Amino acid sequence: MIDLHTHLDLYPNALDILARVNKENRFTLAVTTSPRAWLATSQVFKGHENIMVALGLHPEVADQKFSELNLLLSSIHKADFIGEVGIDGSSKYSKTLEKQELIFDSTIRECEKAGGRIISIHSRGAASKILSIIRKYPSCGTPILHWFSGSITELKEAVEMRCYFSVNSLMLKSQKGKDLASKIPSELVLPESDGPFANLNGKPIMPWEAMDICSDLSKIWNISISQSKKQMMRNFEKLNVGLPQ
Ligand code: MN
Repeated sequence: MIDLHTHLDLYPNALDILARVNKENRFTLAVTTSPRAWLATSQVFKGHENIMVALGLHPEVADQKFSELNLLLSSIHKADFIGEVGIDGSSKYSKTLEKQELIFDSTIRECEKAGGRIISIHSRGAASKILSIIRKYPSCGTPILHWFSGSITELKEAVEMRCYFSVNSLMLKSQKGKDLASKIPSELVLPESDGPFANLNGKPIMPWEAMDICSDLSKIWNISISQSKKQMMRNFEKLNVGLPQ
């Protein structure tokens, strides 16, 4: 099992499930919502070699956490994984759009300076903005667009740029999500839970359930579930995350 985007620190019982996540998942990317949360979570999750804590500043809290921007930028060189970062273009956050763009642009610029990073990106209502910033820094690393919900045109642009897409079960429950997923080349798809925010049947999706998308994907791709699992693992191997063997 692998999970490329989970808010592991925000599950109500995070400490109780940590050992199980580490055991069942070969790799888990635990994204954080602020640089200070990254510092704290890295300490708490230390010693779980299959769980990587990503340095983030969630666009929904761009305003509240703006004072942590310097900590974010000065920590990128020490962090192997970045996320959750991005831009949220929905009306609820329109007042902070300028700050969000400033944070995202400077983050991606810093990733390029650091030699490239794996970056888990939030792009709700802002896919075009996200893509144009990534385009400015072509050596920023490997962008993974998490829970992509843009237009087909934006999706095609992201595919041309060889962005990855982390997909969760909830996304594949809607027709729009299915349509989008069917247009992503299978070699660019990765599994995510986005738990505990993503809920299925009233329960948060667990990191060891992220690969459940393979059942829906096998229908979209017209292959067996085990073939889609293999595809997912091949995609993961290509990321070269540098896990201890
Ligand atoms: Mn998220």
